[in-house]
Amino acid sequence: MRAPVNQLVASVERDSYGRRTLAVSTPHAPDLDLFEGVSASAGNGYQLTGPLSPTNAAALRSTVDNLRPRPLGVGRSMGTGDRLGLATPGHVRAFQRHGHGVTPVFAQQSIREMDRLGRTAQEVLDDATFGCVEAEWNGAVGADTDHIKTTEGIDRGLDAGFTTFTLDPGDHVVDPDTARGDISALVPWGSLEDDPAALVRRYSGTSISVAGTPLVITEDQLLRGAVKYGAAVADTVRLSRHLRERARHDVEIEVAIDETDLVTSVAEHYYVAAELQRLGVDWVSFAPRYADGFEKGVEYLGRVDDLAVNLRGHAAVAEQLGGYKISLHSGSDKFSIYAAAVEATGGHIHLKTSGTSYLSALEVVALHEPDLLREMYAVSRESYRRSRATYQVSADVDSTPDPGAVSDGELQDLVATFDSRQILHVGYGDVLTATDRGGNRYLDVALREVLARHHELYADILADHLGRHLEPFAG
Ligand SMILES: [Zn+2]
Repeated sequence: MRAPVNQLVASVERDSYGRRTLAVSTPHAPDLDLFEGVSASAGNGYQLTGPLSPTNAAALRSTVDNLRPRPLGVGRSMGTGDRLGLATPGHVRAFQRHGHGVTPVFAQQSIREMDRLGRTAQEVLDDATFGCVEAEWNGAVGADTDHIKTTEGIDRGLDAGFTTFTLDPGDHVVDPDTARGDISALVPWGSLEDDPAALVRRYSGTSISVAGTPLVITEDQLLRGAVKYGAAVADTVRLSRHLRERARHDVEIEVAIDETDLVTSVAEHYYVAAELQRLGVDWVSFAPRYADGFEKGVEYLGRVDDLAVNLRGHAAVAEQLGGYKISLHSGSDKFSIYAAAVEATGGHIHLKTSGTSYLSALEVVALHEPDLLREMYAVSRESYRRSRATYQVSADVDSTPDPGAVSDGELQDLVATFDSRQILHVGYGDVLTATDRGGNRYLDVALREVLARHHELYADILADHLGRHLEPFAG
């Protein structure tokens, strides 16, 4: 990797087992002060060999400009979550080949997932940094702490150096159809610095032009929007203020209400966004809850035309309120919708994927360690009933084959077929944290060994698979 300003060159080297070390060379000895490892003079300069440690990751980010995450702004972008911390080289390859004009977010993980796996925000960022060096990425990068619900989550992202903060007030969304009682008790008017009459005066009759057709916001929609999202607005304001107060580096916000059961109408999106603006929140992308059909790790299950209409409405609100991006979460493997989504949003779009890179890892396992995949599949099936409640999934365990009944040649199909694919997707937590009697995460360890030995194959599978996601977004 080249950094012409100070001539420092860093690379990640692998031995025959796939184990990695960092190599840094520079003509200026002081450049190496931040790094740890063994250094020596070499030719006209100095060379250091060191571990892939937090110290060295931080040193890389402070000496190599493009490795330092930055806010994405409103240009096209895509987040590629990585549960194992080993996917970035393949992600880089996908962007190098297919991602022209799309800014990558290689470090992206939700607080929930970090906690589930026992990963720190720092590890998430460091793994992405080393992956960038290994695959020689020299473009800009973002870094997204996803689905933050607490100020403590914000602090974790800030301390690690993340730059995008996806604030998720979803726990505060209220179902207006089952909510009982007086509207003044259901909406936190005090923290919103508002009252119902003022709300109606402000926005009632506002017209949004959706593909040439005016959509007029009614009093009913506003009051319903306030019941449903008023507390969520107040919570977003709280989180946003904390972020702005505490941040010592450039940061940006995404607002995400996609992880609730209640679909966000275009009028409700308008209510939320207009209110957040009034209360001083500034954000670059917004993830509403779309019409059903976004299940984990599989094709879009709804009608693409309906989704396009939905997206055009959301994009119209975003444009009218300042031109932020529409964010598509659970975006993995939905090849049928990407072109329509780019078109409907005029390219003001952010795509988030995550679990699909874990599934690509399982393809490597299916090819090279059949028994390990059967074991992972067995654990995933057992955990499916427990964990399915937290995901949008519809796989039926009973329609999937028993682990013992799957031949080596059929293991690839297991990763590809709808029901077993979803089961494997959702089972990652129990698989990666499964321990033996000694307390070792034996499946996680075994998986990492396979991926180290076959890191080239893993990177190629990822480059192809993520590349198929990227192509419709590239410009
Ligand atoms: Zn999401």
